[in-house]
Order: sequence, then structure tokens, then C-alpha cells
Amino acid sequence: MERHQPARRTRRDFLWISLALPGVLGLASGDRHKAIAQARTLPPTPSCAKQDDATPSQTEGPYYKRNSPQRTSLLEPGITGTTIVVTGSVLSTDCRPIAGALVDFWQADAQGIYDNAGAKLRGHQFTDEAGHYSLATVVPGLYPGRTRHLHVKVQAPHQPILTTQLYFPDEPSNATDGLFNPHLLMTVQDTNDGQAAMFDFVLKSQARRT
Ligand code: FE
Repeated sequence: MERHQPARRTRRDFLWISLALPGVLGLASGDRHKAIAQARTLPPTPSCAKQDDATPSQTEGPYYKRNSPQRTSLLEPGITGTTIVVTGSVLSTDCRPIAGALVDFWQADAQGIYDNAGAKLRGHQFTDEAGHYSLATVVPGLYPGRTRHLHVKVQAPHQPILTTQLYFPDEPSNATDGLFNPHLLMTVQDTNDGQAAMFDFVLKSQARRT
């Protein structure tokens, strides 16, 4: 698929998703600040230091759909399960925050089922000036053959797309899922409202083509 051939990446590719829908900036600022405050109480995830520390890629899987809604909360009527707020930064391998990076999540619901007809539990957003993102959602359920996970695509402006997955610590199925990668474990804590998770994405930069 062309979107997964970094050598041909252009600004137009970066804009594909924002042009597809008018989009509404999602989570209320109060919720966002709460999420960030929660995340800052968590220990840091492995940090950037060298190219080798870039966040590893993973398979896209069969359930990705283009043109997800622009939003920072996937919570809506009918969505059940344990609420989780995932926060973090998008960083370069030299530890600089990346503003305006696309972060596009999709996941199974609490019963382990993807919405392949609509856009439930799918949403993209762009990092703020400090490179932060924040996602309010529910803990995904298990489905046969996989441990608990979130899917995500991350793309800095003018850069290739990183497709990967995020995992939950202390999940028994991590030991039996061939795709599981401990470098993609989120830090997760219980909160009064559910859970708070943190993960920083570290992206390798690629020379821009003119
Ligand atoms: Fe999946």
C-alpha cells in the first residue's frame, strides 16, 4: 500500500486525514488537563537517546480504516468498559517534542470486537505545541489469538507513518501473543475513574525530499 512506502511520503500524505473530514477538536480542555496531570504522576516510559530507541513498528492488522474522526475521546453512548486515559508525547530520537504529529488510534471494544462498519473506537488527533497527545477511551477486550492492545499510527509532519500497537502490563496473554513486544508496553495505573496510561512515541526522522 502506498501509505506504507516511506520513500514517497509527501506533505499531501500527511494531510490526507485532515482533509477527509472537517473534524472537531475533541476532548474538553478540563478533561485533557486532568489526563495530563494523571499521566505526570506516572513513571516515565523508556526515553529517547539514540536511533535504536525509536518506537518499533508492528503489523497494521486487518481492522484499520482510513478517515477516522478527529477527536481525543472515543467515549460515546453505548461504549462500555473500563475507562482509560492514555497520554504521552511524540518525540524525535534526539528527544525533541514533535508538534502537529498525527496520532490515529483504533481498537476493539471491551468485548473484543472492532466496529468495521462505523467509526466507534477510532479517532485521530494532532499533538499540541509540546508534542503531547491525550486519548480517553476504554480498555480493549481480548479476542482470539491476541493479547490486549491498542492500534495506532503516528506520523510527524513530512515524515513516514509509524504503524504500531501498545500493550498492557501484567496481562497474562502477553506471554502467548507472538506479536507482543515489551518495548511497546504502556505504563498503566488505576485511578478513581478507571485507568491512566502513558506512552511516549519516539520517531526516527528521515531526510526530507524536495
Ligand atoms: Fe487488533
